[in-house]
Amino acid sequence: MSRTVYLDGQYLPEAEAKVSIFDRGFVMADGVYEVTSVLDGKLLDFAGHMRRLTRSLNELGMDNPLSEQDYLDAHRKLLELNGITDGLVYLQVTRGNAGDRDFAFPPEGTPQTVVMFTQAKPGLAENPQAQTGLRVISAPDLRWHRRDIKTVQLLYPSLLKMEAKARGADDAWLVEDGFVTEGTSNNTYIVKDGTLITRDLSNDILHGITRTALLRLASEAQIKVEERPFTLAEAQAADEALITSASAFVLPVVEIDGAQVGNGQPGPIATRLREIYLEESRKTAI
Ligand code: PMP
Repeated sequence: MSRTVYLDGQYLPEAEAKVSIFDRGFVMADGVYEVTSVLDGKLLDFAGHMRRLTRSLNELGMDNPLSEQDYLDAHRKLLELNGITDGLVYLQVTRGNAGDRDFAFPPEGTPQTVVMFTQAKPGLAENPQAQTGLRVISAPDLRWHRRDIKTVQLLYPSLLKMEAKARGADDAWLVEDGFVTEGTSNNTYIVKDGTLITRDLSNDILHGITRTALLRLASEAQIKVEERPFTLAEAQAADEALITSASAFVLPVVEIDGAQVGNGQPGPIATRLREIYLEESRKTAI
């Protein structure tokens, strides 16, 4: 069955949704995106994604072409049209069709491009990796230095996912100046002596929506939280390691560059945090 997707105010069969070859998103990666998870037909932390979208657009000097209510209506309509129970909604906003290729921005008032589409993921919350844990490799962080902006420039993370796969691992953790920044598409954490440790917010990492929620939930569950950078060696010697993202929720990491983390099994704090996160997210989904 063909998906119905959203393009600039229209709901179209996916084969009919076409964007110009001069779109700034296509020729310059001049666009930002969000991915919102859906469980039981409801959107998780939609307000958080909208806040970050606005921030990303502001940082790039782009307008926000739609209101939060417009985005919400479009997300819900796409879920309904495509019969999505569990899955994702992808949203992308670009600086639009400049009519030609030029480094300079198109003139003020050039319509931006807005695309949304769904991805069905039946059983999204029942990921078997929650039981097995992830194995990750490390790699130097060669991305640009505004990782706090959620742009569509995903080539380096994409190359690293392929490298991880080729080496029999699930993902890669990025390292800069000796410290872990984040995963290719997730925020990274370790647990040592009961304390949850994750890198503090800066331009070095994406400000994960799931990260914000998790730190709040961890504190509420009386788990001590420390926001500071950690090294790869510290991670390998930790009691537990884990990642968060809007689509993976919370997943344990059991191996880093071939070194077992803890006893090589998903740890109790990662497992508990996943349960708490999923329970709370379902409760507050809209
Ligand atoms: N870091 C990077 C580089 C990411 O791509 C993602 C996924 N969006 C995250 C962290 C996690 O962010 P979130 O919890 O908002 O999905």
